Amino acid sequence: MWVKCAKLFVFCYYIYMKKRLLSGIQPSGAIHIGNYFGAIKQFVDLQDQYESFIFIADLHAITTVQNKEELSANILDTAIDYLACGLDPEKVCLYQQSDIPEVAELTWYFNCITTMPFLERATAYKDANQKAKEVNVGLFDYPILMASDILIQNADIVPVGQDQKQHIEYTRDIAQKFNKIFGEVFILPEPLISRNVSIVPGIDGRKMSKSYKNTIPLFGTDEEIKKAVMKIITDSKTPEEEKDPDSCNIFALHKLFLKENELEKLRKRYLNGGLGYKESKEILLTEIISFISPLRKKKEFYKNNPDKVIEILKKGAIKARAQAQEKMKIIRDKIGVNI
Ligand code: ATP
Ligand code: MG
Repeated sequence: MWVKCAKLFVFCYYIYMKKRLLSGIQPSGAIHIGNYFGAIKQFVDLQDQYESFIFIADLHAITTVQNKEELSANILDTAIDYLACGLDPEKVCLYQQSDIPEVAELTWYFNCITTMPFLERATAYKDANQKAKEVNVGLFDYPILMASDILIQNADIVPVGQDQKQHIEYTRDIAQKFNKIFGEVFILPEPLISRNVSIVPGIDGRKMSKSYKNTIPLFGTDEEIKKAVMKIITDSKTPEEEKDPDSCNIFALHKLFLKENELEKLRKRYLNGGLGYKESKEILLTEIISFISPLRKKKEFYKNNPDKVIEILKKGAIKARAQAQEKMKIIRDKIGVNI
């Protein structure tokens, strides 16, 4: 009896003391190796250390994916990929963003205290604005929706790739502004960016992004991965010429897979000459395929059991929504809509 009580106490104390981690990925296309090394790997590595909330950012994805079949297939695929990468649903609360409608409500409140020039300074918006003829309001509002996801769950820490750092700063600014206007409600989250990764380059040298179509898909077939790897852009040096590993897109990807000593050997081969880009790509292809083979097996299991995946998401949504509703009571009260 006493032993049971002590165990329960230790368990409760541990849960109470654990900081809360939250992050998400858009179901805007197939997960790529940038998503894995920039974000998902950290979610998996930290799932014992933090009370984790990981979601599928489907509301965000609607800014770009506007096709029913595509969106719902992507949502299920993203959930499967999370699980295949090693997220343990017993440790992590895994849910779909649109199952928490309070997030959209909070976004409206934040919209009302945020100015247009503040959002116009977001680099993701500036990039999109340069490319698209007319950016939709959802894309413009992306940082606010992201702030709502994070702040409604009282997250302490948000593991993301370097490209999202500015959005976490926005989240902190929005939380501070709300706290100043309506009174203390939100804690300020910290970003967690992997020191070894920051931004994984795509096959064209820009940030690897689903929307840029420059990805190496994490769960592609061998043929798809080969096709992507062989297209990686390089300069036109011959195999005999000496090469600079630090400006080479292929070498940047080797860094994700090779151990320190193996990377050093490859670095020397670059510097000494004699290694062609084709051979470097072939080595990379072997690295990627051997890395993903155990993940593929797990993916197969969940692909054959979609009901299990949906059940995990629904269970996660119940927990995440209950917390969001608790928080919304406080928020509504502070704003004055409760009469
Ligand atoms: P989209 O093009 O639709 O924005 P994306 O490929 O940028 O898709 P997101 O869903 O926006 O992927 O990002 C999910 C997570 O993966 C975020 O934490 C983001 O910082 C991280 N991430 C995305 N691309 C990279 C990359 N190239 N290198 C490192 N991290 C990345
Ligand atoms: Mg992105």
